[in-house]
Amino acid sequence: MAIESVVEPLYRKVRQDIVECELTPGRAFSEAELGRLYNASRTPVREACRRLEHEGLIRIMPFRGYMIAPLSVAEFHDLEEMQLIFEPEAAAFAAERATPEELEEMRTLATYEYRVGDRTSYREFIQTNYQLHALIAQSTRNKRLFDVVGNIHIRLMRFFYLGLPFDSYGPALVAEHIRLVEAISSRNATEARCCATEHIRMAMERSASLLMSAIRFGEAVFDANSTLDGTIPNTRSRTRLP
Ligand SMILES: [Zn+2]
Repeated sequence: MAIESVVEPLYRKVRQDIVECELTPGRAFSEAELGRLYNASRTPVREACRRLEHEGLIRIMPFRGYMIAPLSVAEFHDLEEMQLIFEPEAAAFAAERATPEELEEMRTLATYEYRVGDRTSYREFIQTNYQLHALIAQSTRNKRLFDVVGNIHIRLMRFFYLGLPFDSYGPALVAEHIRLVEAISSRNATEARCCATEHIRMAMERSASLLMSAIRFGEAVFDANSTLDGTIPNTRSRTRLP
């Protein structure tokens, strides 16, 4: 109990710093360094890192410490495909199972007022986007589905925090969210499934044209040619990048 009360806030803080790219993707840390950085002792650091490894946010390097999971084009595409597999069905279940309170909250999240070019607004929008997608998954009442969708979005958010060029597409995203939530609210599972598919397909199209500038923007931390295990991925055949 005592250790858990130390581990949980530490885990949350480190996770937030990884998601917001405050901890640079690909950077290596020793256990002692992380302990100093977060003013924590060895055992909680180890336990927090074990959880973060399970979520795919850090890698444990035996006898050397930890590495913040690098970002790669291949991972981004993998995550988008995972969204396409899970989220349309989640939206369909949500249309059948969401409570009136959840629908109300979805509407609030979907109508977030987005200001193009405003960095604070963009960062808030990234959070709002996460909350909306997580809430839709939660309202399916399927815990496993919620875990999977939540993890996909936690990983995706790292790319959004890194990729300021995504900013200009905010208003289009908001319009898609509103359509999706309207379909869920009207209890139309077929329409909800369609809207979710459309939202993800549109996001994939937008990201294909923006990924290269995101790579340039974050050149030092966003490695186009590396994967989590350090091998060169065969992404050319399945991406639309130049
Ligand atoms: Zn979205």
